[in-house]
Amino acid sequence: MTRGIISFVFDDGYSEIMSDALPLLEKYKIKATIAVPIETEKVAKTENSNVSSLSSWKEYCFKKGHELGAHGKNHSPLSTLSEEQIRQDLSESKTATNASSLIYPGGAFDPRVKRIATEYFSSARTTKRGFETFPPKDKYELCTFNATQKNFAPWKWNFWALRAMVENKWLIETFHHVNHPDKIHSVQLTELEAHIKFINQLPIRIATIGQVISENKVAQ
Ligand SMILES: [Zn+2]
Repeated sequence: MTRGIISFVFDDGYSEIMSDALPLLEKYKIKATIAVPIETEKVAKTENSNVSSLSSWKEYCFKKGHELGAHGKNHSPLSTLSEEQIRQDLSESKTATNASSLIYPGGAFDPRVKRIATEYFSSARTTKRGFETFPPKDKYELCTFNATQKNFAPWKWNFWALRAMVENKWLIETFHHVNHPDKIHSVQLTELEAHIKFINQLPIRIATIGQVISENKVAQ
C-alpha cells in the first residue's frame, strides 16, 4: 500500500544525466521522464554544456525503460512564437519523440500554447512551483519543484516527499545538471543519492509523468 506519488524529470538531455544521474536512479529501479529538444546541439551551444543527441536519448530511454518527454524543437520559449510556429514546433517535437508528455521549454506557455499542446500530448509540465494532485486539476499546467544549487538539500526535499506522502499528493521533481558548480540548476550527485535513498524506503510510489497521466485517464 503506497500513498502519494513522486516523479523525477530531467530537462534538456545533458550528457552527465545519462552517464551519472540515471545509473544512480536505475540502481534503485526508478524510471524517470527525460525531456529532450530535437536540436540538442543548439541548446548545447547556447549554454556551453554537453548535451546528448535526441537519437541517443531515444535509444537509452527505450533500453532502460525511462520515459522520453517532448521539449520542443530547439528550446524556443513557445509563448514567443506565432500560432503557426507553435504548431510546427510541437508537431515536429511529437513526431521526433513520439512522446505523450510535453515539458514546456523554459516553462513558457500561454493559452495558445496550451490549446495546441492538447492536440499532440496527454499532459504538459510547467515550471510553476507546487504539488500536484492525481488526477491533476489541469493536465496541461502541471506544477513542479525545480531543483537549483541554492534550493536543493536532501533534508528539504525529503520533507517535500514526506508531505506528498502524508497529503497523498503528486510531487514532480525537476532536475537539469548534476555536479556542475558553474550552473544554477545543478545538484550534487551525492546529495541526490541521499534524497533517493530516503524516498526509496517510504511507502510512496515513484512513477513517470506518462504513467501517472495514463492511469488517471479513466478517473478523469
Ligand atoms: Zn529546458
